[in-house]
Amino acid sequence: MKLSQLGEFGLIELLAKKIGKPSKKVMVGIGDDTAVLKVQSSKSKAQNKSKIPIPKYLLVTTDTLIENIHFKLKTTSFYDLGYKALAINISDIASMGGYPTYALVTIGANKDLSVKKIEELYRGINKLARKHKIEIVGGDTVQSPKELVVSITLLGEVEKECLLTRSKTRVGDAVLVTGNFGGPAVHGYSSRYSLPVTRLSEASVVAKSRIATSMIDSSDGLVRSVLEICKASKVGARIWLDSVPIAKKATLDQALYGGEEYELVFTTPRSKAVGLKDLIQRKTKTKVSIVGEIVARKREVKLVDLHGKVYSPKSGGYEHFR
Ligand code: ADP
Ligand code: MG
Repeated sequence: MKLSQLGEFGLIELLAKKIGKPSKKVMVGIGDDTAVLKVQSSKSKAQNKSKIPIPKYLLVTTDTLIENIHFKLKTTSFYDLGYKALAINISDIASMGGYPTYALVTIGANKDLSVKKIEELYRGINKLARKHKIEIVGGDTVQSPKELVVSITLLGEVEKECLLTRSKTRVGDAVLVTGNFGGPAVHGYSSRYSLPVTRLSEASVVAKSRIATSMIDSSDGLVRSVLEICKASKVGARIWLDSVPIAKKATLDQALYGGEEYELVFTTPRSKAVGLKDLIQRKTKTKVSIVGEIVARKREVKLVDLHGKVYSPKSGGYEHFR
């Protein structure tokens, strides 16, 4: 079978089966925005009685950008590319309720590429790294036959109490989002206007509130993100079309399926939704919208208008290999 028949999501499912069950130290393995790992053994904890550290988990995530798939050098500057490569990883750490710490940067480049361009790329990476106190501690540099590849592995930490995954939402929860959707689909995914937001402070408010039940970032679009939460939590969802915050000039379909907004999508019990929305808005000045609800129906996302009419759009979002 060809990859194009299986698609990106099908392939990951297949690989996860081949890899098998994770060990006890893996709190969250394949299937969330980052891996969540226990690093402090109970033994060392006992030995260290005098200092009681805040219990934390290690977060690890990796994301890759490939020329002519994720960006075109005609429309993306090297600075923006570096910035974006780190931003999309930060987004995954944020969506677990954590904060980033260390990064490894891998570059695959054609030998004719000018050194200046790679320096520009690193200027973009460094800008964001400094802002969030991320240290670049290594990576890999390799030759690529043609297209440029930038891959970043980002480590982070999350306080145990703050960890948010995709898998703990419940029927009766509301679905909330930060910001607007569909912008990158309007401006073009390679455009400056589509540089990802890094919602670290918003995610931190969500996590510290301790009333959220799940969180994800909207890399693959709003509907896909809600669907991922549904699959992991074994529930369904209804998205209220009239409540979806649509970016300027975007169509409804672009807002639903466009992707690459890197906004936060999260859930909390319905009775707490307005309180959480107000809290985030007050603390971060970022707009939050309540866009739907979690229902008992099987792992699917229904799009409904104000009259309860179900909407079936034409497009279904981006998937690699398809
Ligand atoms: P995100 O969009 O949040 O970066 P992905 O859709 O890329 O997440 O990946 C979904 C999950 O599958 C993640 O847990 C990721 O670590 C895992 N994954 C992706 N590709 C592979 C692979 N080749 N082998 C093992 N796990 C993978
Ligand atoms: Mg993600």
